[in-house]
Amino acid sequence: MSTTQKTDVIIVGAGASGLAAARSLRERGVRVEVLEARDRIGGRIFTHRDPRAPAPIELGAEFVHGSAPEVMAIVREAGLLAVDVPDDRWEHRGRNRIPSRDFWRRLEHIMGRMNASREPDRSFYEFLATKPGGRKFARDRMLAREYVENFHAADPLRISERALAKGGSPHGDVNEQRIGRLLDGYDHVPGWLSRKPHDAVRLRTVVRAIEWEPDAVHVDTSKGSFAARAAILTLPIGVLQARPGDAGAVSIHPAIAKHEEALSLVTTGPVTRMVLLFREEFWRKGKLAKMSFLQGSDPDVPVWWTLAPLRAPMLVAWAGGRRGAALALLSPEERRDRAIASAARHFGVPRRKLASLLVDFWTHNWEEDPFSRGAYSYPLVGGSKAGEMLARPIRGTLYVAGEATVDEADSGTVHGAIRSGRRAATQLARHLGAGA
Ligand SMILES: Cc1cc2nc3c(=O)[nH]c(=O)nc-3n(C[C@H](O)[C@H](O)[C@H](O)COP(=O)(O)OP(=O)(O)OC[C@H]3O[C@@H](n4cnc5c(N)ncnc54)[C@H](O)[C@@H]3O)c2cc1C
Repeated sequence: MSTTQKTDVIIVGAGASGLAAARSLRERGVRVEVLEARDRIGGRIFTHRDPRAPAPIELGAEFVHGSAPEVMAIVREAGLLAVDVPDDRWEHRGRNRIPSRDFWRRLEHIMGRMNASREPDRSFYEFLATKPGGRKFARDRMLAREYVENFHAADPLRISERALAKGGSPHGDVNEQRIGRLLDGYDHVPGWLSRKPHDAVRLRTVVRAIEWEPDAVHVDTSKGSFAARAAILTLPIGVLQARPGDAGAVSIHPAIAKHEEALSLVTTGPVTRMVLLFREEFWRKGKLAKMSFLQGSDPDVPVWWTLAPLRAPMLVAWAGGRRGAALALLSPEERRDRAIASAARHFGVPRRKLASLLVDFWTHNWEEDPFSRGAYSYPLVGGSKAGEMLARPIRGTLYVAGEATVDEADSGTVHGAIRSGRRAATQLARHLGAGA
């Protein structure tokens, strides 16, 4: 007969938010068990290494977006190296590559016209249909649309104008416009977060069901049962929305009406991200020598970037929203071929030549991954408060954290996920009377 293991707090998920919550509770003397379905920590931070590649290969999060104080504090404490990505942006139009000057200002021409307290809320598409800025800003509207589809991984027909107005772009804040990257790989961040609760993380432990009543939680997993006074759930939105019987799905009994309402107001966007290693930096011969980003409206892969300021023969191909979803349906080989064809269009180099320069290619299918079910969340029309609703504790017993439970400005980010885990830990510690 299997026994039930007892602890103070169960944390479901060892991504950035779960590990941050665990560390924070352990520092307050609370006993925790972190239950993680995968055979690794980090969740949507997924760094791969290959001796042929001069830099770590990021299959999930790569950038430090804006000031990201939670990530930068870890960078300092863990002695990691971070670099600023130069803002050398280019646009691909027809057969031309044109410097994309004033990217942020042009984006703001459109994003700055949305209304954060609009009643009723409407979709970004409906907002764009009013042609904000008139004829003069037609190109900037296109830029904003690509930004929302790619960066937010969102469907313009579904994403909330209110949420985007509030935090969908850095507006004029130069600190929030900055993008950085961690030279040694993003996995050092979950690695640092897990140092203290290391012994408390149980890998390959798939949570299937949670039964709860005030101050008591019982969790059924692939590795037996666990009991605690409270639980912090850091499951991605797609997993919380999965139907009973779907891989990774977790049934919660009794169901939480408030959470179900919030879950109907948010969804997860698709992203296909591919890393290509070439024999040489073929783009350095022309005017793109120092480029960081190259973007346009390519039907397959609309965004490309280098590892600038590093010199490495590696490119990242990115497609968010509908294009990301379409690519995710293909086999990895087909995705690679689409990426090569798209790179040939973007960089003006024959496809055959690029194929011969390719050393290897890496990607992870976040759509089909049962423990992520998509890349990251965005609020639907009427859902600008969904994250706030999810973050409200249930009877001092169930707490929800994760990237979807913070403001739109920080959702879908690593620093947002860390912040949410610490918030849930503080709420719970207060309830348990376990330190500030
Ligand atoms: C392709 C891609 C690119 C990104 N780029 C960036 C970027 O450049 N910068 C940035 O800041 N952010 C980026 N993000 C977003 C960032 O990675 C996430 O916001 C953040 O890592 C989410 O952390 P989390 O703890 O909320 O969720 P997760 O990291 O998903 O953690 C949840 C954990 O729960 C586990 N789990 C799921 N189901 C179960 C179950 N049934 N039982 C037990 N465990 C379960 C999962 O395995 C996972 O480990 C990107 C994400 C993707 C997918």
